[in-house]
Amino acid sequence: MVLLDGKIASAAIKEALKQEVSQFTAGGKRAPHLAAILVGNNGASETYVAAKVKSCAEAGFRSTLVRLNDTVTENELLASIHELNGDASVDGILVQLPLPKHINEQKIIEAVDPCKDVDGFHPVNAGKLVQGLPGFIPATPYGIMLLLEHYNIVTTGKTAVVIGRSNIVGRPMSILLSSNRPYGNCTVTLCHSHTKDLEKICVQADIIIAALGKPEFLKASMVKEGAVIVDVGITRVPDSNSKTGYRIKGDVAFNEVSLKASAITPVPGGVGPMTIAGLLRNTMESYRLQVTGC
Ligand code: NAD
Repeated sequence: MVLLDGKIASAAIKEALKQEVSQFTAGGKRAPHLAAILVGNNGASETYVAAKVKSCAEAGFRSTLVRLNDTVTENELLASIHELNGDASVDGILVQLPLPKHINEQKIIEAVDPCKDVDGFHPVNAGKLVQGLPGFIPATPYGIMLLLEHYNIVTTGKTAVVIGRSNIVGRPMSILLSSNRPYGNCTVTLCHSHTKDLEKICVQADIIIAALGKPEFLKASMVKEGAVIVDVGITRVPDSNSKTGYRIKGDVAFNEVSLKASAITPVPGGVGPMTIAGLLRNTMESYRLQVTGC
């Protein structure tokens, strides 16, 4: 069984990005610049944004963190996004989700300039993905593709099941795996909360991407011998033995499923670091277009 280690793969990607950045800066160009907007002080969001800022530094990128109070109005948040859209020194903008209930998340996603939408959530980029055109791919599915590439997982002609159809993970993942591209060309079944006989569908799959947010949902009985398993889930479950009072659990019952899988991601340390790698790759792409105009 191969452990699909996201820490190792993302470190390699960050190192390659760092080399690329140093070539640009040695030539007198500025460094790539990611701006993150964090609204409120949700614990998980704080952790994710801190990890993104740290990774920017590791890859030689500049980052700016815009912190807004959770009482910020929708118009104030929109103004902050418009400011970053108009700032030529900013290559990528991300607004950390979820947002407080009084803010319309879709309106915020659509306010980000599609050319700086390095999370790949804007409908323009979603449309480009569907049509196989160049654009920003949502960071988590992009990171998973990079992980499959890092470990050279053969996907062509395989059957894949994606569990979860969100716009940020499941649906774009199903499009990527079914596309005619490296580490694509699968025959994909996209499952969701209304899917009947999920176990029967999963047990036939060569590759399973679990992205539903239900701790240890995918059991060994649902998995074919030798399947490749990618666990996207991150759920904080209470744990009085832990210093933080919680433990992170994925959507896969790792201990039992890893005995049948040919390759599997751990949680934490699998898809999480790869999401950041995807984000940095998108930011680099935006930067390259800005500074070289190609
Ligand atoms: P979401 O809540 O938007 O979507 C969940 C999807 O799962 C829905 O489409 C729903 O239909 C489906 N679903 C729910 N119960 C189901 C069931 N019993 N059977 C089949 N399908 C079911 O969630 P999301 O934003 O896509 O995130 C999914 C998980 O991935 C969460 O745990 C989230 O925290 C995690 N996540 C991790 C990363 C990362 O970097 N590792 C990034 C994004 C999301």
